[in-house]
Amino acid sequence: MTESHSRVAIVTGAGRGIGAAVARKLAADGFAVGLLDLDETGVTKGAEAIVAEGGKAIGVGLDVSKTDQVESAVAKVAEKLGPPTVLVNNAGITRDNLIFKMTDEDWDSVLSVHLRGSFLMTRAVQQHMTAQKWGRIVNLSSTSALGNRGQVNYSAAKAGMQGFTKTLAIELGRFGVTANAIAPGFIETDMTAATAERLGVPFEDFKKAAAAQIPVNRVGKPEDIANTVSFLVSEGAGFVSGQVIYVAGGPKD
Ligand code: NAP
Repeated sequence: MTESHSRVAIVTGAGRGIGAAVARKLAADGFAVGLLDLDETGVTKGAEAIVAEGGKAIGVGLDVSKTDQVESAVAKVAEKLGPPTVLVNNAGITRDNLIFKMTDEDWDSVLSVHLRGSFLMTRAVQQHMTAQKWGRIVNLSSTSALGNRGQVNYSAAKAGMQGFTKTLAIELGRFGVTANAIAPGFIETDMTAATAERLGVPFEDFKKAAAAQIPVNRVGKPEDIANTVSFLVSEGAGFVSGQVIYVAGGPKD
């Protein structure tokens, strides 16, 4: 099929973990990729590695919760790589605590990165998608959206991502833009390593205990999420929109 739209993707939080794997996979799928992250050095190296393998990529430092930084990062990607038609809202943080110990800052920072960040990024990118009459938005939710002890802030943000996604699907569908959410279960990254550390459990033991509860009997890898993103942004996924796909090695409610 000949495509009339540009093949340019933006991945936030692409400095490491799931975002880095998604950026590599989309580059392998033939997208030029803008890797965005707080850590400019990390994404610059990630982009250089993609270019060394024959792909097209740039790294841009930003805080996704800051309007001016989001707008200038999206403009930079559009200028250097072309108008973005794929957006993966992946940047995320955790500030876990039981509600009686959770601070205002724990609450505000988590809601700000996940929800405000995804809103700002999507508002800035959708104009390129609607102009091209084609787009794919993938938002990172989590199984924690269903409730998770110590994560009242994070679970609220990740449940919010699901409502945000469904509304984007309704508003943008007429412009050829789909929006879907991926809700990962346990994925082996720095984020889950930090949770193990907070609980005082060696990461290997933490992973083993998690795997024992997962029907496929293993924890997830960043590539498990990258492969699902690859499908959702493909031409063939054009009739899949407003969905939440649990990628957790088994069913979730
Ligand atoms: P990670 O290893 O902690 O990576 C998160 C990335 O986001 C880091 O590179 C971080 O930058 C970046 N980031 C944080 N705040 C940012 C901001 N304000 N602006 C720009 N970039 C920012 O996390 P991960 O495990 O790969 O998780 C990726 C996404 O999947 C998150 O949305 C997470 O909630 C979701 N998720 C993960 C799991 C899991 O089991 N790992 C499960 C469900 C959902 P720095 O390196 O500079 O801090």
